[in-house]
Order: sequence, then structure tokens, then C-alpha cells
Amino acid sequence: MEKKNIDWENLGFAYIKTDKRYVSNYKDGAWDEGALIEDADITMNECAGVLQYAQTIFEGLKAYTTEDGRIVTFRPDLNGQRMMDSAARMEMPQFDAGRFVDAVTQTVRANAGYVPPYGSGASLYIRPYMFGINPVIGVKPADEYQFRIFTTPVGPYFKGGVKPLTICVSDFDRAAPRGTGHIKAGLNYAMSLHAIVSAHANGFDENLYPDSATRTKVEETGGANFLFVTKEGKVVTPHSETILPSITRRSLMYVAEHYLGLEVEERDVYLDELKDFAECGLCGTAAVISPVGKIVDHGQEICFPSGMEQMGETTRKLYETLTGIQMGQIEAPKGWIHVIESM
Ligand SMILES: *Cc1c(COP(=O)(O)O)cnc(C)c1O
Repeated sequence: MEKKNIDWENLGFAYIKTDKRYVSNYKDGAWDEGALIEDADITMNECAGVLQYAQTIFEGLKAYTTEDGRIVTFRPDLNGQRMMDSAARMEMPQFDAGRFVDAVTQTVRANAGYVPPYGSGASLYIRPYMFGINPVIGVKPADEYQFRIFTTPVGPYFKGGVKPLTICVSDFDRAAPRGTGHIKAGLNYAMSLHAIVSAHANGFDENLYPDSATRTKVEETGGANFLFVTKEGKVVTPHSETILPSITRRSLMYVAEHYLGLEVEERDVYLDELKDFAECGLCGTAAVISPVGKIVDHGQEICFPSGMEQMGETTRKLYETLTGIQMGQIEAPKGWIHVIESM
């Protein structure tokens, strides 16, 4: 497909309408066969479940062009599985993970002209989501749902170079014990907006949310998991039932162990021990890893030895290895790269 006339290098992270989107409707206990459509607007009843009681979940992944000219996505089966887990927790019907991958493939193929070329650093962001659409006024799950996927081209995350982040320990909670922190639901984001606006107003890039029960352990930020590197070079990530299981974080832990030969550990990480780590990073689809230079815990500043100018050495190796795998320069573990179009 012919590429669209887009200034790939100067793309930001804003919605740009692409040609086709995927829609499947759930009614009378079953999903229909699904279709690609052109209309980007959704019409629904004023009393739709999603509008009244926020019954909505989503996923996020990227399609990009590899060095040898293929259009691929990274581990989309895990997004499909995670969306099934989110649906179950929200009393929504599950959209089969195999069908999910097929729908992602169809949608990206139909918008191939918007997939940025190799080397631009840009990608085609893919947003699958599902919501209750029939009128619901008594509090209960909807009976009818819509599953959709749209795509939008986005620019490189580290435009103008890598800048380590400054993070504050938030006074707000993100996820209740036994709540919904482990699923990708819009409701987790709605309640984080006040916290992030406040953090930005105070000059911070992100919030570190401690565990809500004791406020002594590190959980995650509003939209990314933490990785730490000890002074001995071990890669540590917090363990918690209320952290969203990031696919990037799980992939980085695998890369650390199996590609870089590092020791890895998933365990409780206490705020008290942050000062002992050599490096800190945030992981998620958007950036892969963003280095963290400083964490501020109510006046106490924790500055990581990697500093405010560059990625720490282990963080950089992790970043380069995973992005090398994604771009086809380093051999990927079996099943990690899903080919959508090979040139
Ligand atoms: C999506 C998300 C992440 C990152 O997950 P990836 O699968 O790596 O993109 C981390 N934390 C939260 C709260 C998220 O919603």
C-alpha cells in the first residue's frame, strides 16, 4: 500500500484519523463476525452502560516496520489474553484472543499506508477497546457490547534525545487491594487524572503510586511498570496483585535473564530501599523504557547514580536489546514477532 504523505519525523502523540477501523458487536449472547468500516464516529443511546457506569476496557500496542521492510506487531497474543482477563473482571463478554490477533492484523493491513517507515522511530499505535452500549440505568452489566480497534500514527517517544524523568511519590491511590489495578480499564485512568495534573503542576513528570494498603511498597505509575537495577547488576521489578502486568516489563525481564545473562527478581520493593538502587526505569509500550533520574518522596530526594543526562548502562542495554528484537536486528524468541505484511 502506498504510504500516506505524513511528516513521520515530526509526528507527536495526538489522534490522527486513519482510513479503516474494526468493529464487532455483541448481542443476544454472541459476537458477530466483525467488519472493517470507515465511520470513525460512534452513535449510542444516552443511557449506554459505558456512559453511566464506565464499563469499558482497552489495550494498546504498536505496528512498525522492521529493518527488512516487514510490518509487524510485538506479542499481540498477550494483549488479546490480557483483554480477556480485563473483560472477565468487568463482567463483560470475552473477545477471543485468537480473533483479537486476527482483528488487529486486518486493521493494520487496511491502514498499512499509515505505518511509518523503518528508521523514523515512529509507529502505528493500535487501540483495541470494548464497552457496554445498550441502555443501563439500574446498576448491572450491559447486555450488548461493542469491540473496536482504531489505529493512529505516533511519533518517536524520545524525540530530541533521552531525558531521565523526575517522579514524585503520590498522595493519591491508584489501585485498591482486591480492586481493578491489574486490569486495563478506563476507570483506573479516570481516577488518575487529578493526580497526574497535580504532579505536573508541581513540576514532576509522573507519579509513583505506593501500595494503597500500607503505602510502604512501590507499585507503578499511572501507565508504566517499574524496573530497578541493583548496584550488583540484578534487575528487580515489584511484585503485587494490583500492578497491571505490562507486556514490555515481562519481555524486558526475559531479555535481562536470557539475552544479557543478568539475575532477575520479582519481589516486594520498599520505598525505603529506593536509595540503594543504581538505576530505575519505567516500562510500557509507549517508550519501551524511560529512565528515571530522580524520585521525590515528600521532600526527600532520591537521585539515582545514572543521573539526569542519560540512561543507566543496564537500562540502555535492556532498551537496545528489546528494540533490536522488535526491529528484527536481533533474533526474537519464538512467537514474539507477529508479521502482518512481508514485503
Ligand atoms: C498499559 C499499562 C502498562 C504498560 O503495559 P504494556 O503492556 O507494557 O504496554 C503499565 N501500567 C498500566 C497501569 C497500564 O495501563
